Amino acid sequence: MTDELQAADGAVARKKIIEDNEELWRSIKGVLAAVGHQKCWYCETADIRSDNAVDHFRPKGRVSGESKEGYWWLAFDVRNYRFACTFCNSRRHGEGGTTGGKADYFPLAEGSRRADSYLISISVEIPMLLDPCDQFDITTIWFDETGQVKVNPDAEALEENVPDRVAVSRTLYHLDHVRLIEARKRIYLEVLEMCDQADEALVSYKATRDVTARSVFHESINALRRMRKENAPYSAVAKCAVRGYRGSSPSAKLIAEAS
Ligand SMILES: [Zn+2]
Repeated sequence: MTDELQAADGAVARKKIIEDNEELWRSIKGVLAAVGHQKCWYCETADIRSDNAVDHFRPKGRVSGESKEGYWWLAFDVRNYRFACTFCNSRRHGEGGTTGGKADYFPLAEGSRRADSYLISISVEIPMLLDPCDQFDITTIWFDETGQVKVNPDAEALEENVPDRVAVSRTLYHLDHVRLIEARKRIYLEVLEMCDQADEALVSYKATRDVTARSVFHESINALRRMRKENAPYSAVAKCAVRGYRGSSPSAKLIAEAS
């Protein structure tokens, strides 16, 4: 299909080919959803009631703010697909006055060249949006007990534009949506409570040799391990919570360093 796009006579013809073949990416939505454990690749929300979409990371049509066509040659390239919820994918207003949604935005860093032809490699670009398929990008985001998106200080030290990229992504992926912040805060606090429970049970077991306390300790450790697994709700938040608490909690330290 990409060959047909390259052979097409102009933008109108290309647009028609793309529109006529939307089924090609829609048909693999289930596969992409399964890869991310049914969670949106951008915000980790798993809402089975939502009609989630296959997002083209680099927009296949127009690019907001650009006069040229978008990345039409990536319309049928699976490497450009991301499984996204409606809040991350489309422009929407949220409670509390926030607005977000990626839509056809794909801003680049100041001074970055844009790959505005299929003859130019996309590797010339420095995108402002964090890519959930890029392992470095994933590490740049940090969460704390408020549920807000923060910058990972370790990543900030490695690339100077990390804070700006996190800020742009927070807005365009609508990561500051109030319900999302609340959901993250709940997970973060659950992790802290589980760590406290594990620590207290361990202290109790050491003092009393009560096997019930030992059992609570082991179950709490197992629960913490499950909360950090990729299929768990907002597991990226749970990982940050464990890491953030490891200086105060022996159980958090154990889990943070276990894997
Ligand atoms: Zn999302």
